[in-house]
Amino acid sequence: MKIITSIFDLNKEIKNYKNIGFVPTMGGIHAGHVSLIKASQKKKSKTIVSIFINPTQFNKKNDFKKYPRNIKKDIAILKKLNVDYLFKPSVKDVYRFKSKKFNLKKNDKILCAKSRNGHFEGVLNVMNRLMSIIKSKDLYMGEKDYQQLYLIKKFLSKKFRVRINSCPTIRIKNNVALSTRNKLLNKKYLKKASEIALILRNLKRKSKLQPSKTALDLPNYKILLETKYNIKIDYLEFRDEKNLKINNFKNKFRLFIAYNINKVRLIDNF
Ligand code: AMP
Repeated sequence: MKIITSIFDLNKEIKNYKNIGFVPTMGGIHAGHVSLIKASQKKKSKTIVSIFINPTQFNKKNDFKKYPRNIKKDIAILKKLNVDYLFKPSVKDVYRFKSKKFNLKKNDKILCAKSRNGHFEGVLNVMNRLMSIIKSKDLYMGEKDYQQLYLIKKFLSKKFRVRINSCPTIRIKNNVALSTRNKLLNKKYLKKASEIALILRNLKRKSKLQPSKTALDLPNYKILLETKYNIKIDYLEFRDEKNLKINNFKNKFRLFIAYNINKVRLIDNF
């Protein structure tokens, strides 16, 4: 695996490759990331994994500061997986050139965009930069961050003529979706997160059988989860899978949640 830290070097290295699979990450590599990397490798394309903790998508300084980092371990995992390139640029390099600014309109200011002001604008900004550097044919992203996937499809897929491969959420045995932020939680809180995930998985199942009743029950579930697990729920909503509109249970839908547990924000969807 070649580790590349500058845009200049990366350009030199990849200019002759047409079939590039790109897996953008913020590090803390776990089995969720690994599933995206394996999907790219299956296509027999050159795989580039980036590790870049993008400061502009953190709406709180402290959140950026305490985001888990373990580059040594990450490199060891990526080497073992035979990744072709690890791209690990500096903030200065990524933000050196001028690039389009994104502003979300009212109808996209839902779910995480409602409470994390500027977050997705930061995500779109950095993805616009990374994609213009890498020009991959395929991009691999996780359904775990469903709204992010949706917005990148909406704003960037046509511009870069990139195929966006959405990969299913990988969970640990106890149902919790893998996330780098899980490292900030101890066993006690992870157990709570696991119970919450199980309840929501069952709620999603129930909603398929009795949609309107489940929709009516949703506010009660919110109160129940908040009091039982001492968490603060930002949102708990059923939304249409295709356009993220409040769902009418006619099309495919998902149950979306974001909550704070011991000051750590977790998101998931079922
Ligand atoms: P992150 O490093 O958290 O920014 O995530 C990098 C990519 O990995 C994003 O496309 C995420 O959606 C994806 N990802 C994160 N966690 C999981 C998971 N548990 N299962 C599948 N994909 C994931």
